[in-house]
Amino acid sequence: MNVLIRTAMILAVLLTPTMTVAAQSLPLQEPMGGEPFGHSVTNLGNGLYVFRWTVYRNIFLVTNEGVIVTDPLNPIAAQLLQTEIQKITDKPVKYVVYSHNHHDHISGGIIFKEEGATFVGHENLAKELADHPNSMTPLPDITFSDRYTLNLGGRTLELEYYGPNHGDSLAVMRLPEEKILFIVDIVTPRRVAFRAMPDFWPDEWIRTLKEIEATEFDYVIPAHGPHSEPVIDPASIVMEQRVYLEDLMAAVKAAMDSGVRGPDKLRETVKLPKYKDWQGYDQWLPMNIERIWAYYHMGW
Ligand SMILES: [Zn+2]
Repeated sequence: MNVLIRTAMILAVLLTPTMTVAAQSLPLQEPMGGEPFGHSVTNLGNGLYVFRWTVYRNIFLVTNEGVIVTDPLNPIAAQLLQTEIQKITDKPVKYVVYSHNHHDHISGGIIFKEEGATFVGHENLAKELADHPNSMTPLPDITFSDRYTLNLGGRTLELEYYGPNHGDSLAVMRLPEEKILFIVDIVTPRRVAFRAMPDFWPDEWIRTLKEIEATEFDYVIPAHGPHSEPVIDPASIVMEQRVYLEDLMAAVKAAMDSGVRGPDKLRETVKLPKYKDWQGYDQWLPMNIERIWAYYHMGW
């Protein structure tokens, strides 16, 4: 299939409602307000699929030589993912690629290990997992320091490390032919930063986003995003995320410089009305503010 046809298929997905081929309810923890239970699979064409479990997403690539799976998420989601893949192909999962070291994204891969998959992750992730082992989460068989290219069945998935940003093991995943990035946790469209920004390094996060923006890509599949919207977004969401963080940091710094003292006063005082329609504005913006206060107050 040529690139033009592929691009047309991707545009069709962008312009039409999410094509859900599977969904079911699960008695699990309550996701954030308005977010869905259950799971779904979206076919973006040419063997590229997006799997959603509650508010989490991964991608998987079906080729004629086997399947590349990204983050297995957790044991329940991984079981559902395996079942969905088996409805699409009888080929085995050959690779599982970890995005970063956080257990909420990468637990449960053991079932793919049992079908013979090779696990891939950043070298820092291997150290973190070795320090915090989980019997459901196999260690990577292949590690890399800066870049790694995975080839299977004529498809290519490139893994790129940008240094510390959210933890210190995060891989941005690139489909070079389609000019699509799969980005976990550091880009979430039209949402303020997650709660108190756990394990996020604000300045390194902004630096990373600038470096990603300087690369060549047209679309982003974010690991989190509003369920009711397409699973694939334009490249501009990376810039929008970066500008939000810059606006947040500038507003907190300006308030501190003007004499607003301490996180409690800052939480009450700092507003970012430009983002009032973004998800989490009322609930999470005060937590974002406290995190940035800590950054300026403590230098961390
Ligand atoms: Zn994370």
